[in-house]
Amino acid sequence: MVRGRKTLVLTLFIDNRTPMKKRGEMHRRRRIPRPGSLASPYLVDDDVKDLVETIEGRDEIWPGETRQSRIESFAAPGLGAMVALRGQAKYPVSLARSGDLAGQNSRHTLPRRARTGPAPTIVVYHNLSAAKSPWTDQISVNTDPDVFRRHVRYFARNFDLIAPGDLTRGNLPKRPLLITFDDVYKSVIDVGGPVLREVNAQSIWFINPHSVAGEALPLDNLLSLAVVELGGREVAALLGAPHGTKSSAAELILAHLPTLTYAQTKDLKMQLCQRLGAKERDLRRQSQMFIEGADLLQLRNFGMAAGNHSLTHTFFRALSQQELDTEIRGSREMLRQLTGQAVKYLAIPYGHEADATEDALNVARSSGHTAIFLAHGRSNNRMLAEDIYDRIAPGNVRPELLPVSIHLLPWLRTIRDRFH
Ligand SMILES: [Zn+2]
Repeated sequence: MVRGRKTLVLTLFIDNRTPMKKRGEMHRRRRIPRPGSLASPYLVDDDVKDLVETIEGRDEIWPGETRQSRIESFAAPGLGAMVALRGQAKYPVSLARSGDLAGQNSRHTLPRRARTGPAPTIVVYHNLSAAKSPWTDQISVNTDPDVFRRHVRYFARNFDLIAPGDLTRGNLPKRPLLITFDDVYKSVIDVGGPVLREVNAQSIWFINPHSVAGEALPLDNLLSLAVVELGGREVAALLGAPHGTKSSAAELILAHLPTLTYAQTKDLKMQLCQRLGAKERDLRRQSQMFIEGADLLQLRNFGMAAGNHSLTHTFFRALSQQELDTEIRGSREMLRQLTGQAVKYLAIPYGHEADATEDALNVARSSGHTAIFLAHGRSNNRMLAEDIYDRIAPGNVRPELLPVSIHLLPWLRTIRDRFH
């Protein structure tokens, strides 16, 4: 039996011949790069010093070699990794896992520099539910409430939980961790609120005001429902995919939504509702999944700051200046009215840095957002800008593997992206 993090054994597995394990349909097979790109840049890098020292005190790791060590805390480099629990089968870790859908297969291309002072670990959750549901089955947003409670207890034991304002005030404690939520699932308040209160944790909840109450149903959930009800082929055809293409809702979101215009998105929703034979507002009501205006009044009771997640949860990269203004500035104002809180934080929908365009960042900063959040699941030791933070989505990971999600994978992704 595994008894907590002290029995966790890490096997760093570096092999230029081994493809990354395919995990789910979302991840395309990817080969680990050439041996020449492994050892040299990465052994001289300060980032890996901790890990290299941890792994049996040796100062060299070569492609094809495997090392094992008990891990208590670590920073890790790497290009592929297997994590083994003592006496159990090896557990392949996917570097692609990330916070929001579009972050999953992405790598950044923009230059970063080292952050001064402690780098905050920021986690993001979506729907806190174990229930199977056509509204969410296709888009992997669920965390079992019991798993969530165990995650939060782990954070409280092993980190210094911080308040949102601590990020921008600087002067962070030694092991800062901030909990955040995205989207408009009612479970955040019903399940998440009480759990956070048990450990006195503050958090940010990033909300799309357009989907609070009223008639609007989040498009991702509508797509999930449509794929379950109508099949992936029919929905893919509606989005203009080649004839006969069958896709999951998550794949469709990544492949088609980023470039849709406002008008096309609206039209898509209408067509989906038509095919499903129901009105958008009736579908929203049926789901019983999303918050209403009155729920927002409870935010303060649970120490939750209202964050801006854009008006309609849309990709920013294809929006006009005016649309960006509506999605960012207008949304912030609407949230202020709905919650009575000053809104200072923006989480970019889908968490992809391709949507952190110069125009989007300008609108966000000039309208009073002091911190901007992505979801590539990388470490915050390196940053794009002082006010931009990455987040990790632990999802439904078994609590004994949390150190892998929270420490190892973010480091692996950060180092991977530096050498690609
Ligand atoms: Zn989102």
